[in-house]
Amino acid sequence: ALKAVAIDGPAGAGKSTVAREVARRLNYLYIDTGAMYRALAWWALRQDVGCEPVALTALAEAAEIRLVATDEGTRVWIHGHDVTEAIRSPEVSQHVSQVAAVAGVRAPMVRLQQQMAAQGCVVMDGRDIGTRVLPMAQVKIFLTASIEERALRRYRELCARGVPVELAALQQEIEARDQADSSRATDPLRQADDAVVIDTTGMGLEQVIEAVLATVRR
Ligand code: C5P
Repeated sequence: ALKAVAIDGPAGAGKSTVAREVARRLNYLYIDTGAMYRALAWWALRQDVGCEPVALTALAEAAEIRLVATDEGTRVWIHGHDVTEAIRSPEVSQHVSQVAAVAGVRAPMVRLQQQMAAQGCVVMDGRDIGTRVLPMAQVKIFLTASIEERALRRYRELCARGVPVELAALQQEIEARDQADSSRATDPLRQADDAVVIDTTGMGLEQVIEAVLATVRR
């Protein structure tokens, strides 16, 4: 039978790192739904669409988004552009929650995500996977950590990649995104009633992966 592991939680909780590794160990497909909204936000910025819901909806409905699994991780494409690196820029990070708040944007993205999950066993991470995209998922995890730790982890990650950032600015961006994602009308960031909460504050990566795998095997 097809199996789905849904991982939701606030920004910077380590969802994608954990989800990717859990998928690798289970030999499941990893689907990064945040990358899809980011790709759309990148495209919207490039098309100068702004925040107008009707225009953003049209953009989302016509969007050709592809997630391509490679040995080095997932590559993200939109309309023939490889945007894997570009979607991590501060501009996209600051814009994405406004794009993702539009109901007309979410509908085609959710549909696409459900089609992807129907292809096989998946680990999918996002904000509304357990509540909206895959409500029948066998395993639901809500991954969280203190805001200070989430900001610090993201800071170290970007520093390691040579991206110049400021910790305070990063923390502000994460907080603003959580605020927007939790307060939007359509499928806000929310813990599913049947989700297992893992607070990763003070935990190492391997420890978190083990905790998720233990929940899957339960
Ligand atoms: O996961 P990531 O932080 O890359 O997601 C970027 C943004 O995409 C989130 O802040 C949120 O606005 C949006 N998103 C969403 N629903 C999802 C995944 C991401 O609204 N399932």
